[in-house]
Parts: sequence; structure tokens; C-alpha cells
Amino acid sequence: VESCKYTGVVEDCCCDYETVNVLNEEVLHPLLQELVATPFFRYFKVKLWCDCPFWPDDGMCRLRDCSVCECPENEFPETFRKPSDVLRKEDLMCQEGKPQAAVDRTLDKKVFRGWAEVDNPWTNDDETDNSEMTYVNLQLNPERYTGYTGPSARRIWDAIYSENCPKYPSGEMCQEKKVLYKLISGLHASISVHIAADYLLDEATNKWGQNFDIMHDRVLRYPERVRNLYFTFLFVLRAVTKASDYLEQAEYDTGNSDDDLKTQSLLKQMLYNPKLRAACPLPFDEAKLWQGQSGPELKQQIQKQFRNIRHVLSLMDCVGCEKCRLWGKLQVLGLGTALKILFSLEGDNHLQPLQSQRNEVIALVNLLNRLSESVKLVHEMAPSVMNISGQF
Ligand code: FAD
Repeated sequence: VESCKYTGVVEDCCCDYETVNVLNEEVLHPLLQELVATPFFRYFKVKLWCDCPFWPDDGMCRLRDCSVCECPENEFPETFRKPSDVLRKEDLMCQEGKPQAAVDRTLDKKVFRGWAEVDNPWTNDDETDNSEMTYVNLQLNPERYTGYTGPSARRIWDAIYSENCPKYPSGEMCQEKKVLYKLISGLHASISVHIAADYLLDEATNKWGQNFDIMHDRVLRYPERVRNLYFTFLFVLRAVTKASDYLEQAEYDTGNSDDDLKTQSLLKQMLYNPKLRAACPLPFDEAKLWQGQSGPELKQQIQKQFRNIRHVLSLMDCVGCEKCRLWGKLQVLGLGTALKILFSLEGDNHLQPLQSQRNEVIALVNLLNRLSESVKLVHEMAPSVMNISGQF
């Protein structure tokens, strides 16, 4: 609780809703759509096993023995370890059987010829457990309705929220927890938007399309969720632009120089976009979080709170649908990368030089794209929601 006692208005940003919508629609969304389709950004390395270290006694995974916990139990907060409620077996089964929940693992062999898998000098990429990892073409696996629902999904969201928004007895939430809560709520809203925007309307005819009721019931009728979505978008955008120099100098080698030059050019167009820099130079001001603070220990404690995102990432192994697990892992890793970029502090005040794995950068950019899509969809599907306008 001590670590939470500090001031600084996190919500304050320099861009209003309208500016965000215009910048997103004119600049960010088109560039991001092209960027995530490039060979460098469309492949994500991921362990897709349903390999849940929590609730080990409930037989959640069919594919593998989930009682094998890969991490020491004491690494996880108490709330994650408790087998909170006992659920029915059929509620816990992974749902890989459903076609819409399964991941398409097709790889484009041409792209992988010359793919620099090891020793990428800027990544530190951990390639040691490759036998467990799969490359997935994200373009073939859009985030959308999968049919994953019920107590299993609910339990994961509950665990994430209960871990990341504990309140003071007074009912107030501390600032850094508030940021984490808003990020998770924003991500949750974005996932719901994608489910609603690409929904299986008729199973018999395999008809897909927008489901406005779901969009309204899960997101639009809660202005707070819409606000958190915009907040998360700006937060991740800030991380990406803060890491501009690093991202510009990184290697995007996939063996085809035309592709790689295009990737770099698109990135530069986004990172140094004059419109973006003029209209929204500081999408989120992380320095405000530290304002009025003294003492390196305090800052380190706050930083530690943000590392909590690691626990959220481990929870993704318990998501009982392969495609949801893929996007859950990618987006939480993307959030973790954004937090690392914005809050990696060493000792007193010195920023550590940024070191990112290739997969982290891929996750970060794809997360930004997902959020950008959600912001666009929310704006298109519910212009009236924007009446909540004003500053963040
Ligand atoms: P849920 O979305 O499960 O929400 C549970 C509760 O959380 C709500 O009742 C509400 O109290 C609270 N809540 C909801 N939204 C917010 C918010 N934005 N901010 C704060 N609180 C909120 N399903 C798919 O079809 N496709 C997917 O790709 C997919 N990916 C998933 C990824 C993860 C990591 C998880 C945990 C689940 C995923 N699901 C996916 C399932 C989906 O998110 C829902 O859980 C499911 O559709 C059931 O929805 P629901 O209406 O019961 O509410």
C-alpha cells in the first residue's frame, strides 16, 4: 500500500477523442494494416499448448498433462494458485475441436527461406525451447468469434481483474494498479469488439458478420470500457513512438530485401509521421506517474507492480481455445513490451537501454494494430458514444 501513495494524473493526455479518431483513420490504421501483413510482422512465435499451471486439479487440458507446472508455484500470486471455484469438467475442456477456435498453422515456405531464426543481433530472442514453439501466420488467424465462453473464460477474466485492481479499504485504487486495470479493461474491450465485428451469425450456413447487439452489450453501453480502449491505444502508441530510434535501427531481415525495405519504410512513415507528431506528440505522459515522487525504492516498487503483467501472461496458458490463446498471448506480451519500454528504470532515474526480443516487437506492433482496428470499429459503429468526448 505504501508504494501506491503517490500523485500524478495518469489519465491526462494531450489528445482528445476526435484527434485520435482522425489520426487513426488517416494515418495509423492504413499504415498498420500494411505493416502487419509484411512477412516480418505476420509471423508470431508462440507455444500453443494448453498448458495451465493454475487450477491443476481440474483437468482443464485434454492435449497434455497440465499438472506439470513449468514455473515454481511461489512465483505466482496467491489468487492465481487457488482453485477458486470448482467447475464442471465439461466447462473446462479446451475447445480446439471447433473449427473456428483452431489455429491455422500453414506457413509460406517462400517467406521462411532465409528467415533469420537464430542470432538475430537485436533481439536476444530465446530460441532454446523451439520444440515447443510454433510460428503462426497471424493473417490467416484473425481474432474473431470462436465460441469460447462460459465459466472457463469467465474465470480467467476474473483472475486477471482480481489480481490487477485491488482496492484500498477506502475503495480507492492506487495509481499504478489503475493503469494496469485500464490497460486490461481496454484490451478486454478490444477483444470483445473483434468478437462482435466478426461473428458467426449462422452456424448452418457459416455466415459471418457484425453483431451489433454483442458490440453494444459488451462495450458500447459502458463508456468506461470505451475510454479504457482509447487509453490503451494511446498508451501503446506512446510506447511505440518512444522506441522509435530503436525500432528504426532494428533488423527486419526475412531473406527478401524488397519485403524488408518495405517493412522499414512503413515503420518509418508511422514513427516519424508529421501529422501524428504535430497533433498528438505525447499520446501518454508516463513521466506524470512519477511526478512528485522521491526515493528509488518507491519507484522500483511501482515498477515491480507493472511487472505483474507477467502473471497475466502465464494465465494465458489456461485459455481454453487455441485461437484465443494465440491472440491473448500476443496481446499481453505486447502490453508487457509497452510497459517495459515506458517503465524500465534502473536504480534511481536512469533508463536502461532498450533490449527487445523480435517476438516482443512483433507483438507490440500487432497489438497496436488490433487496438487501432477496435478504435475505428467503435467510432464507426457508434458515433454517438463519442459524445462522452473531452480529454482522457
Ligand atoms: P466476458 O467478456 O467474459 O466478461 C466477463 C466479465 O468481465 C463481464 O461480465 C464484466 O463484468 C467484465 N468485463 C467485460 N468487459 C470488460 C471491460 N472491457 N472492462 C472491464 N470489465 C469488463 N472469445 C472469442 O470468441 N474470440 C476470442 O478471440 C477470444 N479471446 C479471448 C482471450 C482471452 C484471454 C480470454 C480470457 C477470453 C477470450 N474469449 C474469446 C472469450 C471472450 O472474451 C468472453 O469471455 C466470452 O465471449 C464470454 O463473454 P461474456 O459476455 O460472458 O463476458
